Formats: sequence, C-alpha cells, structure tokens
Amino acid sequence: MRRRKTAIFFLVLGISLSILAVALNIGWILLNLREVAMLIFGVVFFALIITGLILNTIFLVREIRRNEQHDAFLNAVTHELKTPIASIKLYLETLKSRDLERAKRNEFYDIMLADNARLLGTVEQVLQASSAREKQRQMNLAEVDLSELINDAIRTIRERRHLDEEVFRFSPPSEKISVLGDLDELQTVMGNLLDNAVKYSGEDPKISVRLKLSGTRTAEIYVRDNGVGIPRGDLKRVFKRFYRVPNAAADAAKGTGLGLAIVRSIVEKHGGRVKAESRGLGKGTTFVVQLPRV
Ligand code: ADP
Repeated sequence: MRRRKTAIFFLVLGISLSILAVALNIGWILLNLREVAMLIFGVVFFALIITGLILNTIFLVREIRRNEQHDAFLNAVTHELKTPIASIKLYLETLKSRDLERAKRNEFYDIMLADNARLLGTVEQVLQASSAREKQRQMNLAEVDLSELINDAIRTIRERRHLDEEVFRFSPPSEKISVLGDLDELQTVMGNLLDNAVKYSGEDPKISVRLKLSGTRTAEIYVRDNGVGIPRGDLKRVFKRFYRVPNAAADAAKGTGLGLAIVRSIVEKHGGRVKAESRGLGKGTTFVVQLPRV
C-alpha cells in the first residue's frame, strides 16, 4: 500500500501546486494591471506550468497503478506455478518413502496429473497472451461450426473440472452458424469464457450458452452465469491485461488476469467484438461475443 500512499501524495502535491500557481497568477495580475503585454505573457506561462503539472500528476498516478497490476500479476503467476509444483513434490516424496497399495498409488498419480495439467494451463496462458498480441501472426483460417465449437468446449471444461451434466445448458439453433476463423484460437476463447463462468460462480454454477444470428451477417454467442457478477465500473477493465476485480471471490479463484485479454485480442483479430454485461455484484455475468459470419 506504499504505492497508494505515494499516489495520494503526488495527487495532493499536484493539486496544491496548481492552486498556488493560480493564486500567484491572480496576485501578479492585480499588481501589474498596467503592464498588459507582460500580463498576457504571464498568464500563458502560468497556464503552461499548470497544464504540465496536471499532466505530470496524471502520468504518475497511471504509472503507479500499472506497476501495482504487474506486481499482482507476478504474484498470481508465481503462486499458480508454485502450488502444483509443491504438490507434485509432496506426492513424489510420499511415493518414494512408503510402500503404498496400488489403489492409493493410482490416486496419487491422478492428483499429480491434474497438477501437471494446471501447470501447463498457466504456462500456456502466459504464452498465448504474448502471441495473441502479435496481430500479424499467421492464422489457420477454416470454416468453424459454432455449435460444434461450443459443444466441444463445454465437454472439455466438464471433464477437466468434473462437473455434472446440468451445470451447462446449451441448445444449438436449428440453422448451422459458421465463421471463418482459427479453430485453436476460437477454442481458447470459448474455453476461457466457460472456465471463468465456472470459476466465478461459487458452489452451484448454472451456466447457459446461447448462439444466435444478429441480422444476417453477425453470429452472437452469449455465455451467462449465476456468479459473483462484475461491478459496473469494471465491465470494460476486466479485458485489460493483468486486471482482476479486487474482491474476495476473485481472490479465492486463482488466476493471472490474462484470460479475458487473450479473448478480446483473438475476437478482434477475427473482426469481432466482445463485451461483458452484469447487473452488479452477486447478480451474475453475461459475456457476449460477436463474430462476422461466413
Ligand atoms: P483471471 O480469471 O485469470 O483472473 P481473466 O482475464 O480471465 O483473468 O478475468 C479477469 C477478471 O475478470 C477476473 O479476475 C474476475 O475478477 C473477472 N471475471 C472474469 N470472468 C468473470 C465472470 N464470469 N464473473 C465474474 N467475474 C469475472
């Protein structure tokens, strides 16, 4: 919180200096009413100083905020890497030092495999975040059937997180809706949105996915959850790299703040748009992805 104090200090400093400059300016004008040329020069000069001061303060505050987010990101990534590594180490040590029954051993192997998957997931996300930013990167364009894409993504998340059938609801539209896109990247988009919907929905997630046409040229995918929701002021910010909504629910669900930044950059590369809608904390969230249809 030292940074926050520094930010407040600079903010107060900036405002005080601006007030001082204005007071000086007015005093100076009153003393030198007759010297008009000098007066104009002085006014312009002071205006410049004040503008400079304000810009300086805004820049400092922004920079400090960005640094804070980078720190939070590093902490989150370190944690995401350390936890599964420590867990795998513990199980390996136990396996080495004790003669366990076959069933117990198998259970340990499964846990280690899950930890390994978590590690891979984090590493992949960090890699994707940098590659998704390269706009020129070659895309493997093909016709992608969105109903199939959504069903595959639901199946993957359900298996990975061992979820019941009724967690996800999706009834594909009767008409086939396809887009021209990179299958791997679009899978990443759906995977991240569904994963978040589960992560931020507490004990009893109910997630519904809808696919429909908007007009004749745009395909729309809605991913709605019954989770913690997003405060109005954060609806745009969640797509920024490293940004995580500061609340208990987000702290409980581990993450790096990269998922939605990856989603946005992929969707935009495909000529589409993505936005978040929520009626506030505790009221669930809907993510809407729009993509140009083939
Ligand atoms: P991560 O989940 O790794 O923190 P994301 O970029 O995927 O990063 O999400 C950024 C932030 O947006 C999350 O930390 C969370 O606060 C918020 N968020 C994302 N999806 C949801 C959701 N479905 N419901 C509520 N909050 C969400």
